Amino acid sequence: MRVKAVILFIILISICMITKAQNIERKNVDPKYKWNLSELYASESDWLKAKDNIQKNIDKVVQYKGKLGQSSESFLNGTKNYFDLMKELNRLSDYASRISDEDLNNSHNQSLVQQATALTTEISEKTAFISPEILKIDQKRLDKFFSEKKELADYKMFVKDIVRQKAHTLSEPEEQILASFGLSGDTYTNVYSIFTNAEMPFAKVVTSDGKEVELTSSAYTKYRTLQNRSDREKVFSSFFNNFKNFQNTLGANLAGKVKTDYVYAKDRKYNTTLEYSLSGPNIPVSVYENLIKQIHNSLPTLRRFLALKKRMLNVDTLHYYDLYAPIVKETSMHFSIEDGQKVILDALKPLGPEYNATLQKAFGSRWIDMMPTVGKRSGAYSTGASYDVHPYILMNWNDDYESVSTLAHELGHTMHSYFSNKNQPFANSNYATFVAEIASTLNENLLNNYMVQNAKSDEEKLSLLGSYLELLRTTIFRQTLFAEFELEIHKLVEAGKPVTGEVMNDIYYNLVKTYYGNDKDGCIVDPYIAYEWEYIPHFIDYTYYVFQYSTSLIYSTAIAEKIINEGKPAVDKYYNILKGGSSDYPIELIKKAGIDPLSAEPFNLAMNKMNKVMDQIEQILNKK
Ligand SMILES: [Zn+2]
Repeated sequence: MRVKAVILFIILISICMITKAQNIERKNVDPKYKWNLSELYASESDWLKAKDNIQKNIDKVVQYKGKLGQSSESFLNGTKNYFDLMKELNRLSDYASRISDEDLNNSHNQSLVQQATALTTEISEKTAFISPEILKIDQKRLDKFFSEKKELADYKMFVKDIVRQKAHTLSEPEEQILASFGLSGDTYTNVYSIFTNAEMPFAKVVTSDGKEVELTSSAYTKYRTLQNRSDREKVFSSFFNNFKNFQNTLGANLAGKVKTDYVYAKDRKYNTTLEYSLSGPNIPVSVYENLIKQIHNSLPTLRRFLALKKRMLNVDTLHYYDLYAPIVKETSMHFSIEDGQKVILDALKPLGPEYNATLQKAFGSRWIDMMPTVGKRSGAYSTGASYDVHPYILMNWNDDYESVSTLAHELGHTMHSYFSNKNQPFANSNYATFVAEIASTLNENLLNNYMVQNAKSDEEKLSLLGSYLELLRTTIFRQTLFAEFELEIHKLVEAGKPVTGEVMNDIYYNLVKTYYGNDKDGCIVDPYIAYEWEYIPHFIDYTYYVFQYSTSLIYSTAIAEKIINEGKPAVDKYYNILKGGSSDYPIELIKKAGIDPLSAEPFNLAMNKMNKVMDQIEQILNKK
């Protein structure tokens, strides 16, 4: 469970990360900038001893196979031994992965990861009996167990969650057949990735300076931001018209994936893939529908953004190919690690003294591996896998503002893990992805607020406001548009209607036109934008996942607004998420934090914030 969550955070982060130059030798780095893994295990021989111990303790769980339902005594012992084993396994894997990330070229450390992975596989196979066995115990008997053994309270949520999905759990042979299709499960992703990265011929353009550019995916992201407008137009039209040639292939591949999703959902007795996808974290389908509805209601704010962009770019009519053109001059701000830490401590003061004291502990007690060193994993992440120790953060500090905001983001995850581990039993300490990115983006919000308030010049302020505005546009509106596209194509498949590349073009193009207006006041959406869906790997790689980028940022922006306006009462409520782990379902935790995902309130608060940012930008522009 936990391992999965950690991987997801890395995926979320990798989207906004830039790989930094890594040329510092690790041995030359001051120890205070390196994480201290000896808190996990003093030495490798200790790690090996712990591994042997875990290996031996597997039997302590397996001996209860077939016996969980016998008595409250064996139910408690079996469950407790299982969680004790998982807690130690997490710590073991944590050490192996952290030390191997220090230098990916170190094959000895890689072998620790392989050993930990092999042990994880063995344990998950040998303990796979637990859920099915719990499902066989009837509710009355379970209730009796819980009243007989007070210690079972720690596992209440775990058991409740298994029982909740009873109606969607199949017989053992049926489950085995479904699981066997896992062998071909990555076909659509592989086809997409091999085709679009390697076999598909790339478009080429000659830019105004006479340079010929081959438009790979990464070249497109670079060249779509060019200052020269006709270059931008050329880049967009060549890049997407190239995709037109492959709409049938990529359309058939995506349709195949959507159909496969639906087969799994139906086999598990769900009505739709959306229901199935949201069932894991127990998120009501209405949360997804409300997101789309509220964002449609919020389109006037997107239109205001487009009008502002038009003004700042000084063009008659805004086109879709203008969206990535920089509107503000980036001011280069320089931050040493100490400067960055100080800014973060000041910016996150609204979260209270305990939060601040823990941040200082993270900075002062080597929870963070700061420097980009030779062979180190790129990007940034936080992991709270070691329940009894503390979370760790991997950074690649680059002395810029991006480094400061990345660290603030990762510290959000770290504090979430720290407080959940401290306040919840191990079985409830691991939080869902749906709430994870609230804690991280809330910190980004508070940081941005602080930086704008303390900006040294109008240029600096404009640069901060401009990039924050882009974040809101791309995360809230663009990701919701993606979420809506996903829903539309799934609905067609579920209604038994044909879904081809051409059908997807129509759906996508209409959505973009709805969002961006396609008129002189909004933004002209040129016809080749119909093929943009072919370029988005998420549609193939995930199912109903991207909407969480939008919801997290909307909820965190709303909570940040409340914290800024109301102070302590709002902070106290927010701690229900930070300390909550998985003690309740994500939606309930968010409600306890003071906002209702099914209402209009978080959306209104987020839009108020976006409008305030535009007010501030306009004030500066009007001065000039
Ligand atoms: Zn994150």
